[in-house]
Amino acid sequence: MEPLIRLVDIKKSFPLGDERVEILKGISLEISAGEFVAITGPSGSGKSTLMNVLGLLDRPDSGSYCLEGVETAQMKEQESAEARRRELGFVFQQFQLLPRLSALENVALPLLYSLRTPDLGPARELLVKVGLEDRLDHRPSQLSGGQQQRVAIARALVNRPRIILADEPTGNLDSKSSNEILALLKALNREGITVILITHDPNVANSANRVISVMDGRIANDKSREAPPIPSSEPVLAPALSSRFSMAPVSGPYFELIRQAFHTLVAHPLRTVLSTLGVLIGVAAVIAMLAIGKGARESIEAQLSSLGSNLISVRPAAVRVGGVTTESDWLKLTREDARAIAEVLPMVKSATSVVVGNGQRVAWQEKNAATQVYGVTPGYARMHAVEPLIGRYFTEDENRDRALVAVIGLTVSRNLFGSENPVGKTMKLNRMPVRVIGLLPEKGASSFGDRDDQIHLPLNAAMFRVFGKQWVDLIEVEIVKGADMAEAQSQLRNLLYDRHEIPKSQTEEAFRIFNMADIQNALSQTSKTLGTLLIAIASIALVVGGIGIMNIMLVSVTERTREIGLRKAIGATSHDILIQFLIEAATIGVLGGMIGICLGVIISFVISEFAGWVTSISIPGVLGAFWFSSLVGMAFGIWPARRAARLHPIEALRGD
Ligand code: ADP
Ligand code: MG
Repeated sequence: MEPLIRLVDIKKSFPLGDERVEILKGISLEISAGEFVAITGPSGSGKSTLMNVLGLLDRPDSGSYCLEGVETAQMKEQESAEARRRELGFVFQQFQLLPRLSALENVALPLLYSLRTPDLGPARELLVKVGLEDRLDHRPSQLSGGQQQRVAIARALVNRPRIILADEPTGNLDSKSSNEILALLKALNREGITVILITHDPNVANSANRVISVMDGRIANDKSREAPPIPSSEPVLAPALSSRFSMAPVSGPYFELIRQAFHTLVAHPLRTVLSTLGVLIGVAAVIAMLAIGKGARESIEAQLSSLGSNLISVRPAAVRVGGVTTESDWLKLTREDARAIAEVLPMVKSATSVVVGNGQRVAWQEKNAATQVYGVTPGYARMHAVEPLIGRYFTEDENRDRALVAVIGLTVSRNLFGSENPVGKTMKLNRMPVRVIGLLPEKGASSFGDRDDQIHLPLNAAMFRVFGKQWVDLIEVEIVKGADMAEAQSQLRNLLYDRHEIPKSQTEEAFRIFNMADIQNALSQTSKTLGTLLIAIASIALVVGGIGIMNIMLVSVTERTREIGLRKAIGATSHDILIQFLIEAATIGVLGGMIGICLGVIISFVISEFAGWVTSISIPGVLGAFWFSSLVGMAFGIWPARRAARLHPIEALRGD
């Protein structure tokens, strides 16, 4: 029959300076199922090295190691992790319990890697069997050495191993605790579990059925005291767990890891908060800036869309022309200029003169208000799409006759007439009676002010009867659809320069000629530039946040080297370790992202409340920031997580 363990000429050396020191110098031995073997020998003789080879924690340089007839040299990393988890249970001199987990959680830990679920049932049964039923929720630091070692033995048993490997399990214990542990191991052996025990205590060695002494890397003596016991058919100590292995995973493999990640993060609250800070501030800034930017863009767009894109406005510029001051007559625009523009230039569809008066008093009965008065020609209504829905706009005849009629905005109507229909009523404008003939369509508020707080009068009435102006303030020109705006602008300029006899050599522009499309383009260009800037700032903030996470994770990996080694010894694969640390990093990122989003939304509200800016929370921005922050956590967690995953179990367990 194939023995449980067969070693043939196992050699193992370690580098020491430039050369290698051979520690195992050709070990051959066989161990059968059910044996209780003690390995003894002086300190430094290679016992632990041999044990690590047996436990698949380390690989020999040469020789053959067959475990249950399978050559272990050919096992992949995954397979040896699986073999550790299914076949082997480790007990260490230093107990190697995870300090933040309770006794119960420590015992259940190997199940995370075998069943993919932290099933506490078998762990509780085992702790009862080792006599710790009243210590289930104690942390390792709240247990005595003997109790900790019993927890460690329960942990070694939870996956129902065939072999227990114990490296000086009683080395740190007093004699009473030693005897208890020894009795426990003997009981396990009687139930059929093969026990291999390293000790230099002759008393402990004497209780074994077989004692192998190692001297200077070789087997010096191997004597069996008695035949290995026939395994009893009924396992008492280790409950019948074997059927569990065929069970499908109860919950996803990551659920427990996420829970443990939270555990770890909660255990270091200050560190966790500090490590989320970078991502948190980055995300909050992005959310707030997006909200402000979007709000500003929306209100500008709303205003611009109400202005036609094929309109050009012309105003006189306050400049000196040819040494003449700006008071010179020919720098004032006139109604004739507007007429000439409409008649001479074929690209022009229509042109209207506009005069504007701010803060004009209007009154009706006891009520009065200040408003903005526009004197315009009837064509203005179509040009700006402000044909009244109630009543009508004024006509050419009324304009020619300087009729005192007005079309009024909604705010003016509310201020003077309340809910009454204003059409047909005669109000006072600067003490002159003006008849209301129509109501302007609602335009809404903007950052330029309330656009419903205005009234329109016929141009001639406004110029000569209300304001007493000879000149117009601006001329609005509508260009035929599809015409070249730049060409139209230069034609306009030439015409006006001719009419006003301004020398073409004049370098300073005499008129300010604006084109709405240009303004729109300039604004959308500005908002694009702003957007790019925002993304740049956000990226920098998140990268800085990510570096913070990476930093913390690297510290965490270094600090938890022993934990990583232990997890590997009880069956975690490198992949399991990688996932564990990635989840921790991502959790920090997500946490920072979530708090950052809340903070950003609060900042946006505060700004719109106190600064009066329009803000608008961007939902895609919020979702993007959330995903991006968890991604940052993951991305910057990869390197530390890989470092953790690559740790050699033995070196990690030694913890230096
Ligand atoms: P023991 O019989 O006391 O358990 P070990 O097997 O732990 O002895 O170690 C045997 C020798 O191998 C010691 O001299 C130790 O310094 C050396 N050794 C063990 N592990 C390493 C290693 N990873 N690198 C270098 N030397 C090692
Ligand atoms: Mg040792």
